[in-house]
Amino acid sequence: MKSTVGVIGGGQLARMMIPPAVSLGVIIKVLEEAPGMSAELAATGVGDYHDLDTVLSFAKTVDVITFDHEHVPQHVLHALVEAGVPVHPGPDALLYAQDKLLMRHKITELGLPSPDWAAISNADELGAFLDAHGGRAVVKTARGGYDGKGVRVVDDKNAADDWFTVLAEDGRGGSLIVEELVDFVRELAQQVARRPSGEIAAYPVVETVQKGGVCAEVIAPAPTATDAATGLDGSASTVAEVARDIAVRVAEGVGVTGMLAVELFETRDGRVLVNELAMRPHNSGHWSIDGAVTSQFEQHLRAVLDLPLGSTRPRDAWSVMINVLGGPVGQFMQDRYPAVAGEFPAAKLHSYAKESRPGRKVGHVTVSGARLDDVLADARAAAAFFED
Ligand code: ADP
Repeated sequence: MKSTVGVIGGGQLARMMIPPAVSLGVIIKVLEEAPGMSAELAATGVGDYHDLDTVLSFAKTVDVITFDHEHVPQHVLHALVEAGVPVHPGPDALLYAQDKLLMRHKITELGLPSPDWAAISNADELGAFLDAHGGRAVVKTARGGYDGKGVRVVDDKNAADDWFTVLAEDGRGGSLIVEELVDFVRELAQQVARRPSGEIAAYPVVETVQKGGVCAEVIAPAPTATDAATGLDGSASTVAEVARDIAVRVAEGVGVTGMLAVELFETRDGRVLVNELAMRPHNSGHWSIDGAVTSQFEQHLRAVLDLPLGSTRPRDAWSVMINVLGGPVGQFMQDRYPAVAGEFPAAKLHSYAKESRPGRKVGHVTVSGARLDDVLADARAAAAFFED
């Protein structure tokens, strides 16, 4: 059995891989971007993941490479593969989590449902899309966006001129993406894990609530996921089944290895549309640490090591995960930890050991139980205690 997993990126996702690595008896080494990051417990080095020599020498110390984020450049990923390093997910899959325009092309090619979309390179093309879609739309940059940065709702063909200028200056002939503004009833996320040998395990679909473009709350499983929806082949199905089918087809269609999250929109008329892809553990799956038999972090390690996947069964009827966002500079999640722990003994509190900055994800709270109303109320109350 391969025994050392190298994680590129030292954020909280890498941090949360450490406890299951201890249980599995594997070693985690982390290449962190700067000293003292969230995953520093397992950090073996500080280095720039854009730099091929840095990444290659890190890779020599591990059996398999995986990631805390999707930003490692394609040329670095390909060089690792050429050097014989197992990389999971591989560059050809990761491409679709790095570039939303390529992702839209691929999802369409796989016959999976997207919002109406187009690649646009100038204000007139944006204007034509707006005219055809009721005067409002969503414009996105293909690369580099996260937590809603790089996403703009527009109603004017000149509203993305600054982004077109940046693309023109770049000189590589890139495009923006424009999408119909989906009038969704809610957002969902479907996670699956896939091993190199092809085994797939799907988690229950969850409901995600975003505030200001940032994931705020996750309910697992998504309430009313057994409601009727139109299946991918047009037959009668349920929201949960359609979500799972979409994620399995994406995982197989692009050859993902490790965890895949497919962010989805559920529309008023029972359709489920793909928003975007993440190929790593995902914020929508943090509930699984406390709420599922196998957490997404353990599952990711199993998948990248090509070990049999664990059960994805929830331990309780409901789990609610709430992100704790940083408050004023200098206020650490740790400061409030004893008070919250005392007040909410059933809440599972996770600190990322990060310095607090307004809006920064510094931890999360999960509460599980039999009644959704109680679980939601307790999780919200515990998380609010940190933010007062
Ligand atoms: P990021 O990569 O920054 O997470 P997303 O593409 O996921 O960006 O968009 C962020 C949020 O913007 C989504 O969670 C959703 O709330 C909203 N959004 C994105 N695309 C659309 C769309 N086509 N219609 C309606 N809302 C959208």
